Amino acid sequence: MSEHPRGTDEFDLIERIRARVVARDDVMLGIGDDAAIVQVPAGQQLVIATDTLNAGVHFPADTAPADIGWKALAVNLSDLAAMAAQPAWCTLSLSLPHADAAWLDAFLDGFLDLAAQHRVTLVGGDTTRGPPSICVTVHGLVAPGRALRRDGARVGDEVWVSGTLGDAAGGLAQWRAGGAIDASLRARLDRPTPRICTGLALAEVAHAGIDVSDGLLADLGHICRASDVGAQVELARLPVSAALRAAYAESERHALQATGGDDYELCFTTPPQARATIGRIAAETGTALTRIGRIVAGSGVQAFTAAGTAWIPDRAGYAHFAG
Ligand code: ADP
Ligand code: MG
Repeated sequence: MSEHPRGTDEFDLIERIRARVVARDDVMLGIGDDAAIVQVPAGQQLVIATDTLNAGVHFPADTAPADIGWKALAVNLSDLAAMAAQPAWCTLSLSLPHADAAWLDAFLDGFLDLAAQHRVTLVGGDTTRGPPSICVTVHGLVAPGRALRRDGARVGDEVWVSGTLGDAAGGLAQWRAGGAIDASLRARLDRPTPRICTGLALAEVAHAGIDVSDGLLADLGHICRASDVGAQVELARLPVSAALRAAYAESERHALQATGGDDYELCFTTPPQARATIGRIAAETGTALTRIGRIVAGSGVQAFTAAGTAWIPDRAGYAHFAG
């Protein structure tokens, strides 16, 4: 049994959602029945990811509802990108303190804008009263054996990352400090770009991949553990935006880039002979891809300064239950 929003009732909210959903031919039964039915194409495998956003943990309390909607879907699509899966469907579980139709409409502006960009159809969900929390599940498709997993990195691989790192964490740090916030850093915090096309293209060449949500060193560490290898990363190579460079001194910036998190960029490993292909994928997808290090025998991720000295972070990345 669940508690439901009062006033406008839960069914009004669900109807507002249903009315705006764009169809896909492979949705046999969408919002309205006890469950949805979708047609998985013959010979394809289903890839499933879920992520929850809690107010104050995953976004600042003053985040615009449209940005919350965008981010709730974006962080999930980022997981599909990291698996090299083609997004298809999603579900949305909303826990809201009140049945606020205006909030929902704005939330849907961001959520459905991103869904349309990737032809993802919302096929169901749940709507209950409770502390603000948004849980999205996405479903994607991949040909058997083509998914990009964490456990395929090999000694001698090169380590790459998409886009730039540290922008979202830089924006969040400015927000926490209570002063001026650079608009482009805040935009990267509120509206991450899931690297779907890049992930799909990388399936042909990458050995392992992950999306950077908790911080580069932490997430690359997951690849290392799953693949039973180590990694070395050069701080000076980490891609940086003009905004982050302008806002932070180098040492602070390196910490944001290496451990900040909320980047939703892809980190992946490839054999050295793949450089030309990576260059082509970067050009075709319009996404910067930067070589930042290499996979070595051993375990763990080591970061080095330009001078070649080991760099030890205060923390490798975000951990929900730490401290
Ligand atoms: P049930 O009691 O069978 O779980 P609900 O009243 O929770 O039914 O939901 C009715 C229909 O509305 C279902 O098809 C469900 O998937 C859909 N739905 C409920 N909440 C949402 C939501 N937040 N987003 C999308 N679909 C939703
Ligand atoms: Mg339900």
